[in-house]
Amino acid sequence: LERLDHLLSSHRAESDITRLSQNQAELRVSNETAEVLTLGLEVAYASAGAFDLTLGRLKELWALDSFSAQIPSATAVATALAGTGPQAIKLSGQSVRKAQPELQVDLGGVAKGYGVDRAVAVLKEYGVTSAAINAGGDMYLLGQQQTRPWRIGIQHPRRADAVLETVQVSDRAVVTSGDYERFFEHDGQRYHHLFDPKSGFPARGCRSVTIIADSVALADALATAVFVLGPKDGFKLLQKYPEVEGLVVDAQGQRHCSQGWGKYLVTP
Ligand code: ADP
Ligand code: MG
Repeated sequence: LERLDHLLSSHRAESDITRLSQNQAELRVSNETAEVLTLGLEVAYASAGAFDLTLGRLKELWALDSFSAQIPSATAVATALAGTGPQAIKLSGQSVRKAQPELQVDLGGVAKGYGVDRAVAVLKEYGVTSAAINAGGDMYLLGQQQTRPWRIGIQHPRRADAVLETVQVSDRAVVTSGDYERFFEHDGQRYHHLFDPKSGFPARGCRSVTIIADSVALADALATAVFVLGPKDGFKLLQKYPEVEGLVVDAQGQRHCSQGWGKYLVTP
C-alpha cells in the first residue's frame, strides 16, 4: 500500500501523479498508475463526467482537510474547473498527456480501492484464504469468517453509533462513500469532499452510498460516482454493471437499493 501511495498520491513529491501535475509534455507512468487511470477514465465516461479524475485544483481550493476550510468564491471555483473533465487526460498505454497545462489529476476517488485489490492479491499469493481488509471504508472480504460469510455493518450516515443495515458477503468488495467523515458546516449547510464537477460544489443528492462488487477499485469509483449523480441517475449507472449492487441514502434520509441488493442483506 505504501509503495502504491508513492506512485498515486498527489501529496508525494516524486509520485507519478505529482509529476503529471507539474509536467506539460507527455509522461510515461508506471503500469499501476496507467491501470488506475484507465479504470478511472472508464467510470468517468460511463458516468457522463460525474466521476472526474481532474478535480485536483478544486480539491486544493476547498482545502477540506485544513483547519481554515471555507466556501470559495464563484470565480475561484470557475477557475479551478476550467478545462477539467475526462477528455483532458489522454492516455495511451503507459503514456499520459494533459490537454491543459494547469490540470491537476487527483486519484482520491479510486486509488485506495485499487490499493486494497492489490493487497488482496498479495495475500492470495501467500495462500491466505480468509481475511478482511479495510482501508477507511474501502473493504474486501476474502473467503469466510470461520464457517459463514463475513458480516459487515453499514454505518448510519447521521448516527455514528447506529448500523443502517448488515450485509453478508464472501469474496466481495464493500465500499462506502459518505458526507459524514470529512466536512464542515456553514449556515446550517454541510460542505463535504465529494464534488459535483458541474457546479464545483459538494454534491447534494446523497448522504451515503455503499457498493458491493468484485473489485474494490471499481466499487470505490462507483461509490463516488453514484454519490455525485444522486439515486436516480446513480442507479442508471449501476445498471451498466450487472454484477454490482448498491445502497443509497438520499439527501432526505430515504433508503434505495438496487434489484439484487437483497441477496446480501442480513434480515434482523
Ligand atoms: P473517501 O476518501 O472518503 O473514502 P471517496 O472514495 O468517495 O471517499 O473519495 C473521495 C475523494 O475523491 C475526494 O477526497 C477527492 O480526492 C476525490 N473526489 C471528489 N469528488 C470527486 C469526483 N466527482 N470524481 C472523482 N473523484 C472525486
Ligand atoms: Mg471512491
